[in-house]
Amino acid sequence: MSDDQFQRLLSVQDHDTRIDQLRHRLDTLPEQAALAASQQARQQVDNQRETKQVKRLELQRTLKRNEDELAALEDRAKREKDRLYSGEISGTRELLTLQEEVDGLRSRCSDMESDALELMEAIDEIETEVEALATGLESAETAVAAAQKELAEAKAVVRAEIDQESAARSTEAADIGEAALASYEDLRTRMGGVAVARLRNGTCEGCHLGLSAMELDRIRHAPADEVCHCEECGRILVRT
Ligand SMILES: [Zn+2]
Repeated sequence: MSDDQFQRLLSVQDHDTRIDQLRHRLDTLPEQAALAASQQARQQVDNQRETKQVKRLELQRTLKRNEDELAALEDRAKREKDRLYSGEISGTRELLTLQEEVDGLRSRCSDMESDALELMEAIDEIETEVEALATGLESAETAVAAAQKELAEAKAVVRAEIDQESAARSTEAADIGEAALASYEDLRTRMGGVAVARLRNGTCEGCHLGLSAMELDRIRHAPADEVCHCEECGRILVRT
């Protein structure tokens, strides 16, 4: 490999490292977490609304039952009262019994009317809560949409950077031999992403270990086009 190719390989490595960092950033964007938080908040409001709506329906059904029962009782009270004043019954004891029955029915009607009022008030209250939650849900949905937009924008920025780096990498890689590039790729996979390192002041910048004096001497005297590897980590060393 020529000196120029070594420099290009270093440059490819720099671009690859940068691309790895950008991909990591893409996977860990704070906008992603923000979106998840906003979706969770929306879900919470939605659940609360759902619970209130179910409760409202229960109350409405109870009220309906109450009203039906009340109507039946009122009918009965009216019929008994009509009988009381119809003149058909003449016995004092019978009349008294009937009067008591009418009074009892009326008292039950009055209790049921109070119950109905309480139920209506409770329904009104829950109605207000459901409306407030609907408004809350709208804002939560707006927040989710905003978070989605922010995430898409943040992703687009990083992806554009990745595209730029990839293009620059391709340009640099074009002039490196296929075999050297394949060995670089293979080494990169095994070495956690860094396959090429500068040899500076007797130290491999890949593993940060100093090379032995003997090895340094061997590398110094090796032909410039020879591919030398770090004796510690095995990375391709570029003499600087
Ligand atoms: Zn090394």
